[in-house]
Amino acid sequence: MDFRLSGEQELLRASVREFAEAEIRPHVMEWDEAQQFPLTLLPKLADLGLMGIQFPEEYGGSAMSAVDYSICIEELARVCPAVALSVAAHNGLCSAHIGMFGTDEQKRVYLPRLVRGEVLGAWGLTEAAAGSDAAGMRTTATRGGGEWVLNGAKTFITHGRVGGVMVVIAVTDRSKGHRGISAFIVEHGTAGMTAGKKENKLGMRASDTSEVIFSDCRIPAGQLLGAEGQGFVNTLQVLDAGRIGIAALSVGLAQGAYEAARDYAVERRQFGQPIAAFQAIQWKLADNATRIEAARLLTYRAAYLKDAGVRTTRESSMAKLFASEVAVKAADDCVQIHGGYGFVKDYPAEKYFRDVKLLTIGEGTSEIQRLVIARQLLAQ
Ligand SMILES: Cc1cc2nc3c(=O)[nH]c(=O)nc-3n(C[C@H](O)[C@H](O)[C@H](O)COP(=O)(O)OP(=O)(O)OC[C@H]3O[C@@H](n4cnc5c(N)ncnc54)[C@H](O)[C@@H]3O)c2cc1C
Repeated sequence: MDFRLSGEQELLRASVREFAEAEIRPHVMEWDEAQQFPLTLLPKLADLGLMGIQFPEEYGGSAMSAVDYSICIEELARVCPAVALSVAAHNGLCSAHIGMFGTDEQKRVYLPRLVRGEVLGAWGLTEAAAGSDAAGMRTTATRGGGEWVLNGAKTFITHGRVGGVMVVIAVTDRSKGHRGISAFIVEHGTAGMTAGKKENKLGMRASDTSEVIFSDCRIPAGQLLGAEGQGFVNTLQVLDAGRIGIAALSVGLAQGAYEAARDYAVERRQFGQPIAAFQAIQWKLADNATRIEAARLLTYRAAYLKDAGVRTTRESSMAKLFASEVAVKAADDCVQIHGGYGFVKDYPAEKYFRDVKLLTIGEGTSEIQRLVIARQLLAQ
């Protein structure tokens, strides 16, 4: 076993960190308050290879590993969790679904545009009445005359408004239950597809989230992604990998919050000394640093196993569950260590505190991760 990153991986971390500090840090609050994803960032993210992190070079991708991917998402999240969320949804959901299950033709048509950052990818599973129970979805795709016709609505879709390509999961044969669900590639702007309500969110506000409505939306038969009836099964495989991304996002957010708390504790003086001199503060820092290292190891282990070709349902869920809850605690302690200054927007603490809550909810809540882990344990 070797717990060290390679020289190239250390270099990758340093270059993404430098980019995030220079191009993202100065704008974090401005983008949060505008509640707009900064589309001007796309070419810069693409130049660094962050719009196609794990995709083959033949499609213009960076052909990096899942461990590399985790490092990239972690470093973006350390500075701006909302940008990291958008990059993770683009890479780890939409593009990954096309990369894993698309035909050669679909990959040739869509991946280069996604990888170059010409379009943002969206991925639509959740519906208003079908979240954790995603297989209970109502959106339908009906075949007729060489086309599929989509009807229904998807809720809480990252890049629902600003995306260019969306993978949509819909029911194609209700009588077959989850084996009657299929995936489709739909281009934003297709007649019958409209963005609905833009969500006014607690956190992750620079990441676009909205409803997407399909009303007799006609797409060519060739837009079916993966085999008919395999859409839900494929979705679970996409989520196995996607959850490693959310675990990495959690580690990065926790690291950012921890560093902000540590720096503040060294500067802030009360009772004639830095608050970092008080054991109560030191223990918070020590506990957070230890938990973050444990979360990082679980995340890299899941990524390493994915790179080794192992199915990581259990490891991905464990990493996502643990890292997201570690991040919630780190953000909470960050506010606490800042005292009243943690409650105002002049310091980064309050934003980490708002952003972090999504991580125990998105791509499966903590309760659902426990359910997935328990099923894996009891199946053995
Ligand atoms: C900012 C943001 C971005 C998102 N981006 C996307 C996206 O791009 N694409 C997409 O498809 N979705 C997206 N989602 C949706 C997200 O994945 C869902 O919100 C999540 O899966 C939970 O579903 P729900 O909100 O319907 O909650 P519910 O499923 O209604 O859950 C409510 C509560 O009940 C609990 N619960 C439910 N079932 C069980 C059970 N069996 N056992 C124990 N407890 C249970 C849950 O854990 C939770 O605490 C996004 C959400 C947000 C907020």
